[in-house]
Amino acid sequence: MQKINNLAIRLARYRPLLEEATQRVLASGWLVLGPETAAFEKEFAAYVGVDFAVGVANGSDAIELALRALGVEPGDVVATVANAGMYTCGSILHLGAQPFFMDVDLQTQCASIAEVEAALHSGVRAVVVTHLYGRAVPGIELMAKLCADRGVPLIEDCAQAHGACVDGRRVGAFGDAACFSFYPTKNLGGLGDGGAVVCRDQKTELALRQLRQYGWSQKYKVTCPGGRNSRLDELQSAYLRVFLPHLDRDNASRRHWGHCYERGLKNPWVKVPTDLGENHVVHLFVVLVEARESLAAHLHQCGVATDVHYPIPDHQQPILAGNTVRALPCTELLAKQVLTLPCYPEMTEQEVAHVVESVNSWRP
Ligand SMILES: *Cc1c(COP(=O)(O)O)cnc(C)c1O
Repeated sequence: MQKINNLAIRLARYRPLLEEATQRVLASGWLVLGPETAAFEKEFAAYVGVDFAVGVANGSDAIELALRALGVEPGDVVATVANAGMYTCGSILHLGAQPFFMDVDLQTQCASIAEVEAALHSGVRAVVVTHLYGRAVPGIELMAKLCADRGVPLIEDCAQAHGACVDGRRVGAFGDAACFSFYPTKNLGGLGDGGAVVCRDQKTELALRQLRQYGWSQKYKVTCPGGRNSRLDELQSAYLRVFLPHLDRDNASRRHWGHCYERGLKNPWVKVPTDLGENHVVHLFVVLVEARESLAAHLHQCGVATDVHYPIPDHQQPILAGNTVRALPCTELLAKQVLTLPCYPEMTEQEVAHVVESVNSWRP
């Protein structure tokens, strides 16, 4: 079976370097918030092109702590899209805030400028935009300006877009804060859970450092409300330092397979994403198809696994049942049609060709 991702190949490829990193941590005697995490935070901030990075336990915590660090409080309303897997919405709810759902653009599947304006007009306390599937949100620079003009913080969810660029500037460098997940399947993933918030403002950085460690301003002195334990450990930091120097090359491989799909997929019933340039790091290769179940079943027969990212829009999740929300026609349409094909750096020409042939031979 052709899997949609294959971590075993990836781990085998990096194994000697990962073992070396493990030995280094074992020899150091440091396991939490030591030299590896400090070094990774520096290296990752430099990679993104911002002043600060703060390691946290996972990408969901990154979003919640970023919202807190930027002043969002229980009862506030925070704008987010509803087609990105419920992660941001979950963090908003966890904080005791409420989501304002922005609909997405049918082409880009990201929040549009008009929807960000609608959110700002309705008086949200913060805006979160998601660089979905690896695509940098079109118009992110203007969105940052619109938010800044209103004094509303903008947070980028970069959990699927490590390394994507807009005019040579990496995602994560546009918002007041940006959140990353290092879950193993992400473009930059560790050997377990991990995350980071990056920012350009030292006050935000300081708040994040306190929030991730019990709200301490110094040892055992709790100054910052909402603080808790959400740390990136030394082993994960050491592994992330192994992968980071190869991220751009791995992203180029993903983009290469994306281009092969773009050229090869010629089924008139399957809509394929286009313009996969430096703005897109192809975290997931997602096509649109009306008869999704039929195509998925055909591909399964051909030995090709698929997945759906994501089948239930946030506003239709059972825990939000009964809440009345704005109509989100594009979000709802896309949720019925998205289908993810296998795509990861270690794929081979033959594997991609097999997926292409299998999709092209399907008829609804
Ligand atoms: C994976 C992901 C997250 C959450 O990251 P975790 O580390 O799993 O908590 C948030 N947002 C998006 C868009 C993601 O893909």
